Amino acid sequence: MGLMRTPTLLISALCLAAASLVLHAQERKDEMDGMIAAIAAHAQDAGPAVPGGGIDPAVLQAMRTVPRQEFVPDDVRAQAYEDQPLPIGFGQTISQPFIVALMTDLLDVAPDEKVLEIGTGSGYQAAVLSPLAKEVYSVEIIPELGERATNVLKRFGFANVRTKVADGYYGWPEAAPFDGIVVTAAASQIPPPLVEQLKPGGRMVIPVGGAYFAQQLMLIEKGADGKVTTRQLLPVQFVPFTRAGTK
Ligand code: SAH
Repeated sequence: MGLMRTPTLLISALCLAAASLVLHAQERKDEMDGMIAAIAAHAQDAGPAVPGGGIDPAVLQAMRTVPRQEFVPDDVRAQAYEDQPLPIGFGQTISQPFIVALMTDLLDVAPDEKVLEIGTGSGYQAAVLSPLAKEVYSVEIIPELGERATNVLKRFGFANVRTKVADGYYGWPEAAPFDGIVVTAAASQIPPPLVEQLKPGGRMVIPVGGAYFAQQLMLIEKGADGKVTTRQLLPVQFVPFTRAGTK
């Protein structure tokens, strides 16, 4: 009897575990569907800031491949798929999914392109860029955040993302020039080294303005002739761009 029961118990336990995995996956899928739907609805309301009135389906597909709950601290995991920013520690936040979608859409990355992100934070934006670009470089000024993001990105196989801890004001000169640059902290001015590190034909998306107020998301384009044009897109709220040696 004893011999008979063990396999039965084992099989039941395995079935239960499998069923719970399936349920869990379904729950995640429902949450992800909800997040993607919220982004699409938000894009409809955002007016001319969203080119063509909608987010590129390739961007939404990239977002589906990134488990956002793995990029946020445990205490806010339950909200990971809501369309809102969340605290990630050190006074910083992971951007709202709609803003990540919009910035990624504006960057308009091609599969053979190289992009730079300033403000790694949780690593989420870099992970979203990963399947869309050839190479992603991301710079974070707070060492603890940079290290944590580097580990998460590695653990989930975002192998084409390179990270470093530094003041992103200076970009990443050794890897420049870039087809696209995305800055995820609000600077009072566009850092000139970043404009220099843009390829002709390249695009930069950056929030510009004061700390916590009156910020505008800007799209900077460098023409094939090197001429730079800037466009204000919409009011946004980002954490401030800080400089090494300042608090
Ligand atoms: N893209 C991030 C958003 C993080 S919030 C994500 O997807 O989670 C912005 C980040 O910019 C913060 O982590 C902040 O520490 C960082 N930051 C601010 N000033 C910086 C600078 N000069 N260089 C690099 N990172 C900076």
